[in-house]
Amino acid sequence: MLYRKMKKSGDELSILGFGCMRLPQKKGSPGDGRIDEERATAQIRMAIDEGVNYVDTALPYHMGSCEPFLARALSNGYRDKVKLATKLPPWSVKAREEMDRILSSQLNRLNTAQVDYYLLHGLNGDSWGKIEALGVTGFLDRAKKDGQIANAGFSFHGDQEAFIRIVDAYDWDFCQIQYNLLDQQNQAGTKGLKYAASKNLGVIIMEPLRGGLLARKPPSEVEKIWTEAKQVRTPAEWSLSWIWNHPEVTVVLSGMNDEAHIRENIRVANDGHPDSLSEDELDLIRRVERKYRSLMKAGCTGCRYCMPCPSGVDIPTCFEAYNYMHMYGDAKWAKLFYIARVAGLAGNPGRASQCEECGECQEACPQKLPIPELLKAVTSEMEGRFFDTKLWFFGKFMKLQRWRTLRKSSK
Ligand code: SF4
Ligand code: SF4
Repeated sequence: MLYRKMKKSGDELSILGFGCMRLPQKKGSPGDGRIDEERATAQIRMAIDEGVNYVDTALPYHMGSCEPFLARALSNGYRDKVKLATKLPPWSVKAREEMDRILSSQLNRLNTAQVDYYLLHGLNGDSWGKIEALGVTGFLDRAKKDGQIANAGFSFHGDQEAFIRIVDAYDWDFCQIQYNLLDQQNQAGTKGLKYAASKNLGVIIMEPLRGGLLARKPPSEVEKIWTEAKQVRTPAEWSLSWIWNHPEVTVVLSGMNDEAHIRENIRVANDGHPDSLSEDELDLIRRVERKYRSLMKAGCTGCRYCMPCPSGVDIPTCFEAYNYMHMYGDAKWAKLFYIARVAGLAGNPGRASQCEECGECQEACPQKLPIPELLKAVTSEMEGRFFDTKLWFFGKFMKLQRWRTLRKSSK
């Protein structure tokens, strides 16, 4: 494992951090956040044994069960081997005293005397304005002085102007930004990364694979470009190496929940030196970026900040199907995915056509996507005319298939 120094604290942090937003969940409980504790504990401990020493969680992860889970997962001496990060949710805070109360409860839930890296969660210009007015800087000063937190930072999903304003507003130790080869101009972007580093802030990177999109088998046009590389690397390996190539980056967080991926990420991290990619390789990555950009219709990262929708639309899944159709040119598969996931054949529907244009989601979207407008396009392309009739036939066909399978297996 390679390590980079957090400029203000001097901590040597592993360049790969363990993000706990998407831990493995118990089978049969999709969406309710129940962690498969045995498997997740083994995964986290395996990563720590391999040198990972930065573990990131937040109060709402896994419907509030992640912090207490981590207290258990990091028992038996593992807590002392890592720097632990968690976050204050600004949306839950209406008064200064609530910040103290939330932090105290987090220390209890994490079973620790001190949070090593404490962040204000998911700031943008508005939430910063609100929480600053409530006295958050005084709260952070007090928490540091009393030893409840060691380093103060913030994670960010706003625009560049707000990012620079927030960096300048307090003596932060670090920040956490969304950054990957498709988000160089988005949110804090490259400009924000360099600005934060120039102010001596450590920079933690989240969404390095853009919600997993950059790790999937790429569309054929993108794959063609990757195959021109002299050195064979997977798309995920290229994407992570590109981030670590930036000397301004301290830690890259990966939301890991699969043993093979953890081992793969650790292997790639062992080579994550700054300024190690050649000009030819950087040029290849620039071409990949341009190609992806030309293929994507909705720049959704799958972060789910827009959820829940009051009308029940499963916004990120609608966009996933829509992007898939345009990036891979596979309308049949994309429509089947859309039907299976949001049509409502099994469970509640979350179709794009349910959108009533209330606009609630748009305010929450860190990518500033025109969600209702995009959902109209999704409706037209994924549902089209007579969608319910087609669904009815599809449902009948599936029933018939199930009946045939049952009959076969009973012979
Ligand atoms: S605008 Fe549409 S998708 Fe967004 S929250 Fe309102 S109903 Fe849901
Ligand atoms: S639409 Fe926006 S908020 Fe919703 S999942 Fe996509 S990027 Fe996140």
